[in-house]
Amino acid sequence: MRILVSNDDGVHSPGIHTLARVAQRFGDVRIVAPDVEQSAMSHAITVRRPLHYNATRIEGIEAYRVDGTPADCVALGTHHWERVDLVLTGINLGLNIGHNIWHSGTVAAAKQASFLGIPAIAFSAPVDETGAEPDFTQLEPYVAEVIEMFLDTPDLPLLNVNFPLSPTSLRWTRMSVRHYEGFVVPGEDPMGRQHYWFAERTRERVEEETDRWAIEQGYVSLTPLRLNLTDDDRLDRAIAHAKAAATTS
Ligand code: MN
Repeated sequence: MRILVSNDDGVHSPGIHTLARVAQRFGDVRIVAPDVEQSAMSHAITVRRPLHYNATRIEGIEAYRVDGTPADCVALGTHHWERVDLVLTGINLGLNIGHNIWHSGTVAAAKQASFLGIPAIAFSAPVDETGAEPDFTQLEPYVAEVIEMFLDTPDLPLLNVNFPLSPTSLRWTRMSVRHYEGFVVPGEDPMGRQHYWFAERTRERVEEETDRWAIEQGYVSLTPLRLNLTDDDRLDRAIAHAKAAATTS
């Protein structure tokens, strides 16, 4: 089995090394990842300039560092390595739950694989308030368990996985959609110029059986994702409304 590993924290992030090391138990592994951090790039692709990459080795594994986005890396990696069976992304430094799924480069890299018809899993782990990195060694058995379960589950093309600080067991979850408040904090830099920070805070309680809830309970959160964003209920209602309007006019 051919397993392509990517991320958005950059090719030298400790999380991708752990992921690649565990992936080696399941098949041949190749790392194709951004040369610098590309967090919160979501599904950006590079179209105004060409892409370049350099070959390197990470823990003995064939690796390439690309001057592009996470989605670029998966597109390029699957172009150069035919018949990739599985794409794994992460392990991201920081959770990708709720609305962060929209911003995440880690999830976007997995989505890019899904666009190409390749099954993919995105992995993320928390960073605490001090910015300390998670204990990746402790996560290794859970990464292996998730990959094993994923390969054994039929019709599961795209999976978003988040680890709590100390995992207990796996749990299937839904994406939490909490209305969050984004706001801008103005400030001044040392040269006296105005600058702005984009910040956010969440507003609602945590719903049970969601990704955020699972993390709070110490579960490894497993959320199947889909690429089709169509709101089917509202589509039906809009069509019904249009028909009713047509008959009354
Ligand atoms: Mn990241």
